[in-house]
Amino acid sequence: MRRSKKYSRPSRELNSYALMGYTRIEYADDGRAFKVHHINSGVKEYVCPGCSGIIRVGEPHEVAWTEDHILGKEFGQNDRRHWHTGCWEARGRRR
Ligand SMILES: [Zn+2]
Repeated sequence: MRRSKKYSRPSRELNSYALMGYTRIEYADDGRAFKVHHINSGVKEYVCPGCSGIIRVGEPHEVAWTEDHILGKEFGQNDRRHWHTGCWEARGRRR
């Protein structure tokens, strides 16, 4: 399923993610660009910031970060978060 709202374009990526597949770019309501990478099978548990629930080992999910971080690109990369796919997609539409 494709949604016209989503954008993807060639970009430089974090090397480890570049090796694993492609990273797409999505724009938040405030105009910041987020890089979003689909993980087919997580290797550890994460807490989803969307629902505060656990993303289990082996569960497909999204990892997202922004390089438009107020503390700098590197901080944004290091501050990346793992989301349930559904929570990430619902993120911009909860108002
Ligand atoms: Zn979630």
